[in-house]
Amino acid sequence: MLRLLLAFILLSMVLRAVSRLTRGIAAGMQSPPVPPPPQAVALARDPVCGTYVVPAKALTVGQGAEMRFFCSEKCRRAWQVKPAR
Ligand SMILES: [Zn+2]
Repeated sequence: MLRLLLAFILLSMVLRAVSRLTRGIAAGMQSPPVPPPPQAVALARDPVCGTYVVPAKALTVGQGAEMRFFCSEKCRRAWQVKPAR
């Protein structure tokens, strides 16, 4: 009787371990590691050199829809000298 009880306990432990393992695999399959979005903020393109810049940190020329963003003072100056629209 005792041996049967021990066998039952052992079996339940094994089953629990197996179910945990399969659940872990299922969870891993359901939610694969999702890479973070490449850019959280919308970037503006420097029209001179083509570099993408963060508008908040970029140098600007113009207002509103005509506003242009530049990666450096060099590009901004180049744009002001010859706006290649
Ligand atoms: Zn630039």
